[in-house]
Amino acid sequence: MADLPWHDVGDFEDADRGFIAELSPAVIRSLDGGVVWDNDAYDFLQGDCPATAHPSLWRQGQLCARQGLYEVTDGVYQVRGLDLSNMTLVEGERGVVVIDPLVSTECAAAALKLYRAHRGDRPVTGVVYTHSHADHFGGVRGVTGGGVPILAPKGFMEHAVTDNLYAGPALTRRTLYMYGAALPRSPEGQIGAGLGMTLSTGTMSLIPPTAEIERTGQEETVDGVEMVFQLTPGAEAPAEMNLLLPAHRALCLAENATHNQHSMLPLCGTVVRDARAWARYLTEAIALFADRADVAFASHHWPTWGRDRIERFLSQQRDMYAYLHDQTLRLLNKGLTGAEIAEVLRLPPALQQAWHTHGYSGSLAHNVMAVYQRYLGWFDGNPAHLWEHPPRESAVRYVECLGGGAAVVELARRYLRENDLRFAAQLLNHAVFADEGNKEARDLLAEVYTRLGHGTESATWRNFYLTGALELSDGIVPADVEVTPADFLAALSVEQIFDSIAIRVDGPRAWNERLSIDWHLTDLGERHRTTLTNGVLVQQPEPRGTADLTLRLTKAQLVGLLSGQGVEGVEREGDTRVLRRLVAVLDRPLTDFAVVTA
Ligand SMILES: [Zn+2]
Repeated sequence: MADLPWHDVGDFEDADRGFIAELSPAVIRSLDGGVVWDNDAYDFLQGDCPATAHPSLWRQGQLCARQGLYEVTDGVYQVRGLDLSNMTLVEGERGVVVIDPLVSTECAAAALKLYRAHRGDRPVTGVVYTHSHADHFGGVRGVTGGGVPILAPKGFMEHAVTDNLYAGPALTRRTLYMYGAALPRSPEGQIGAGLGMTLSTGTMSLIPPTAEIERTGQEETVDGVEMVFQLTPGAEAPAEMNLLLPAHRALCLAENATHNQHSMLPLCGTVVRDARAWARYLTEAIALFADRADVAFASHHWPTWGRDRIERFLSQQRDMYAYLHDQTLRLLNKGLTGAEIAEVLRLPPALQQAWHTHGYSGSLAHNVMAVYQRYLGWFDGNPAHLWEHPPRESAVRYVECLGGGAAVVELARRYLRENDLRFAAQLLNHAVFADEGNKEARDLLAEVYTRLGHGTESATWRNFYLTGALELSDGIVPADVEVTPADFLAALSVEQIFDSIAIRVDGPRAWNERLSIDWHLTDLGERHRTTLTNGVLVQQPEPRGTADLTLRLTKAQLVGLLSGQGVEGVEREGDTRVLRRLVAVLDRPLTDFAVVTA
């Protein structure tokens, strides 16, 4: 690892600068006593890097595992290391404004308590959500019950609730892989997630913003704290914003510039992000704010102090995303496919020498494929890939051609001896998909995934490999999380509620159903019709004529009805069997489906 800039220890100085106090022990529990956060489990990271970790990722783990209350500048504080994200506290005239209240209410409350123990019992007089990802608002009820100004970027509410609405169960399953939630915290296991150590597992909440920021340059004052905003939609999140605290000469970069190469498409899955827009926003941030800030901080990692260092940091982050974008397009326009570009693209040496360009949560390889996907999609243009057999059927045929499962394992051993872990994994994956009972193949594949995990610089790759190895050995690990917390359900619009029902209709079972229901939402004064035909649940506002069944109910009753509660108190008119027929064709999503087996 001689090519890594080990001489540069500035990050350690920045990560420790302004330290006031740590939480001791760094264990946060829910009301029922369950542990939702345990940072002490990472104490082993203070030792030297073992052979079971990439030294660069180990270093990132050491930095992210630091926890406690820190002064960023006079009147601006951060609690770091008590959840995946940071909570920032800006002192106002009467109290304190909270920027990004962590993932869960338990962690947010513990963070606020730690702050108050050292800065006095200041009331929370306002909240800012920098963006629509749950690690930046989920803990809000841990710091306030509402009744204070809450600012968020334009489009926040829509994305906060829809990000998890459509593909939520699949994302939940893949998030377990991405954060390595089921892995032991150990030198052989989970050593972080790149952006922080992991996600806390407490109660998630959401209080809708009282105002959305509409434009770049907009200025707002909350409790005497002046803020100047820059909207950055479509970069790291569909609704996101940077903000300057001019009186403090402090710049909040949300999640647009962090101490790593972020993901253009996180491995848990999402709509692909826009590297081009991302780079432009960073250019704009430099132009708008660099002369007005002595410190830049973000909602993950540690701050950067000094005008020149801030500009260098932002410029390098910008150049990294711009290079990734432009070079991927240059090469795809010469006919290279995503996997081929990922194999050859390297950042310029000068950028590689900056630690914060390394892909601890993202990776250059999967970011290249994300850029390819954004412009050209899943198809690489080769007709051989148009109509391949699905994985299990392909595997059965490959294994047959290669002489059976035992022969495939032997071939894999040969590639392993040559240290070609990647092809050994491909071969063994076929052997396991063709026959889950091939224990030799399973064990060897688990070993290969473990070695791949221990060798990678990206925390999210490591967690995927090691969780794959774990599930090959121990079977599927069920996710122990709520897919849709109550606050999220309550925040859905009626249209979004019906969307979430429509994607649960079991098409073939509903092919021959025809029914219509009118829903009169008495508390909202809204009328909607849902019609089931051809296996599709179509919704229409303000319908004419009458449906098979009319229900008069509140939005809360609608949510209750759809989450399995009865129709008590709901006024019905028409054929009541229609509702049962609709419920009968609804499917249930799974959060424990197979990933590394067929
Ligand atoms: Zn985040």
